Amino acid sequence: MKEKATADVRCYMSLGSNMGDREENLKTAVRLLRDSGRIRNIKSSSLYETEPVGYDDQDDFYNICIGFDTDLKPLELLDLSQAIEKELLRVRTIKNGPRTIDLDILLYGDRKINTKRLMVPHERMFERAFVLVPLSELTDIDCEIPSDKSVRKLRKFTF
Ligand code: ADP
Ligand code: MG
Repeated sequence: MKEKATADVRCYMSLGSNMGDREENLKTAVRLLRDSGRIRNIKSSSLYETEPVGYDDQDDFYNICIGFDTDLKPLELLDLSQAIEKELLRVRTIKNGPRTIDLDILLYGDRKINTKRLMVPHERMFERAFVLVPLSELTDIDCEIPSDKSVRKLRKFTF
C-alpha cells in the first residue's frame, strides 16, 4: 500500500541580505528553497530596503518575505534554511565576501514551537517593521507595525 503523503502546510519566511549583491543573494536563496523540491507555490512580497535593527554600524538591508507550502517538518525546514545560509556563505567566500543572507522562519501554519533550536512564531518578528511590512503583503497580521526604522519599498521581487 502506498504511504499517505504528509499534507502541505503554509509557511512564511523572512529573508535579508546586507552584503554583496543583496538582491541576487535573495534570489539565490529563494531558488535554492524552490529547487529542494519540497517547497511549492512560493509567493514573494515586494523588495524592501531597510535600516538595520540592533547594530546601526552596518549597511542597509534588502528584505523580502515569502509564503509557501511545504511538507517539510519544522526542523527540516530549519535545516534546509541553514544549509542555504551555508551555501551562500560559501559562494561569497569565493568572492572574498562575508556572510550574506539570513533566513528566518516566521510562521509554520498555526503551530507554536518552542524548542532550543526553533521558536515559531519567530521571537522578535512583532518588533520588526522590516519583517511585518513585507509580511503584511502576503497575509493578514493583526498587530501594530513599529515605525522607528525606515522600510522603503523598492520594486516587485522576481526570482
Ligand atoms: P538572527 O536571525 O537572530 O539574526 P541567526 O540567523 O544567527 O540570528 O540565528 C540564530 C539561531 O536562531 C539559529 O541557530 C536557530 O537555531 C535559531 N532560531 C530560533 N528560532 C528560529 C526561527 N524561527 N527561524 C530561524 N532560526 C531560528
Ligand atoms: Mg536568522
